[in-house]
Amino acid sequence: MRVPPVDKHFEQARSEGSDAARQLLSQEFASHARQVVKTSSNDTASQDKLKKDLLEKYGVERTVEDGLARYRLPGSADGKVLFETKAGPTELIQSREKLDSMVQGKLHQLYEQYHVTFGKEGEDAVRPRILSKNKAGQLVDGPMAHSRVPRLSELMGVEAALYSSQPSQFTDAKNHGLKFYFLKDPMFGHRTNTAALYASDLRSKMAVFFEPDLQPYRPITAEDSVKRQEDVKSSIESLASHEIAHNGERNMATWNLEKFKPTAEKLGWTLSSDSRYWLIKGREEELYRLTGDGMSSGKCWIRCDIKGGALDEQGKAVADVKDAPRFTNREVREKALIKPPTSYFTNPDEMLADSLMLYRVGEEGRKILLKSGSQLFDAVREFDQAEIDLRFGKTATGLSKKVRQEDGKLVDNQ
Ligand SMILES: [Zn+2]
Repeated sequence: MRVPPVDKHFEQARSEGSDAARQLLSQEFASHARQVVKTSSNDTASQDKLKKDLLEKYGVERTVEDGLARYRLPGSADGKVLFETKAGPTELIQSREKLDSMVQGKLHQLYEQYHVTFGKEGEDAVRPRILSKNKAGQLVDGPMAHSRVPRLSELMGVEAALYSSQPSQFTDAKNHGLKFYFLKDPMFGHRTNTAALYASDLRSKMAVFFEPDLQPYRPITAEDSVKRQEDVKSSIESLASHEIAHNGERNMATWNLEKFKPTAEKLGWTLSSDSRYWLIKGREEELYRLTGDGMSSGKCWIRCDIKGGALDEQGKAVADVKDAPRFTNREVREKALIKPPTSYFTNPDEMLADSLMLYRVGEEGRKILLKSGSQLFDAVREFDQAEIDLRFGKTATGLSKKVRQEDGKLVDNQ
């Protein structure tokens, strides 16, 4: 999902106390761990709390068998042991320290490798403009949303997405990368049906936000979802990949409608003659557009002409848009000239972001993308390569210097 950048006007000074907050937090972890150790191992309530704690803070599960404590990532399909250690009175404190240092190590590695950063514990992340409750139609400052330290499992999911999305994580021609915020508070002050979104943060820098109800059991990589027979879109990797793709679209200036139009046409869309609406093309040369936000209503599409004017089922003009026959997302997806590869296609940017995600996350994703035909697959590959060329350039003979392998990795073109 993509929302308009927060107005610069409402930019706020960033909280500078985040290091102190992190220190406080690790003290809190340690004292809690000591309390847990002091309690009897038969105490089910404290065991439950410990379990919840490990899941919530790190995305890990701990089991003890024959005196051995094993730590696993429940979001990983193969249940591989992250580490194991002798269970004992100091084991929990040490294991938490180890998990903390694994998180810190991963944060450092992702910065070194991809130049991306992450919101810290309690950091002010975003304060979007929301509709006023008192004055209809007016926008006011919404509640401040804060970030938390990412779980180890989440960092691994984002890492997988970065591996196959390079160079879309860069926010400029230099080496600045995206910032990721795992939110403690919902982005708009209330729950929405999105898990992640791409928008600007308090410093007006483009960032990826993950909503707070991200479950620790969520598959880490797209491969984990495939192994668990879940939707390929359900993983942390896929969520992150979709949002990183939006940043790639920004790098490719898709906000410039005229510039984006040729790509959108290849994806099966066109722009209304007054440039107000994106219209998706049907197989019978008919056109459809969304009426509302496309998310809140089951019947949100209407048939229209090139100006966006509402039509009835026979293609005759309808005076009032309210009287036009409605179509569901599913119906329009089936009627589309180029079938959107997923059910999320509110505009060509979203269809492209989901298509790029499928193209990048591995074999299963590419299979799904290919079901929408080779025209879409080729358009996505071209767009991806054009962004790679924009960053890394071409040789004197016109060959791309870098290309993407099937597993998503960016390599020298040899
Ligand atoms: Zn999106």
